[in-house]
Amino acid sequence: MIIHNQTIELETVKGISLNNISDQVCDVIATSKVQNGVLTVNSMHTTTALCINEFESRLLDDVRLFFHDLVPPQNKYLHNDIHLRDCPQDEPENAHAHLLSMLLGNSESIIICDGVMQLGRWQSLIMLDLDGPRKRCVGVQIMGE
Ligand code: ZN
Repeated sequence: MIIHNQTIELETVKGISLNNISDQVCDVIATSKVQNGVLTVNSMHTTTALCINEFESRLLDDVRLFFHDLVPPQNKYLHNDIHLRDCPQDEPENAHAHLLSMLLGNSESIIICDGVMQLGRWQSLIMLDLDGPRKRCVGVQIMGE
């Protein structure tokens, strides 16, 4: 059995961004030489998330607006009382991003069959940065043969 570990790095834009990482993960599968198995991806941050959904530009705008309404950044949050926390004073006020990350989750598992990720026609693997812009990492582990 092959076990292949790799990290994907990406630079995100301001605010909430949805980043299609399907192609990068396909490259990792090719590098791993695994034909049949499973891959696990996990975002390595507390204000990011992963999901599988349609990467359509108007839907991405809907998602950003929905998240903004669901967990408004301007609401009062204890985590945003930077002066009361033991942290650098330039820490961002990003409680909304942590809360969204917890709701969305930060890992996905996907079947690999004949060297191909088993996603549906309209499915993409999406990394959400909920507090960009930042340099972000996604861990990928592929197990199989
Ligand atoms: Zn924070």
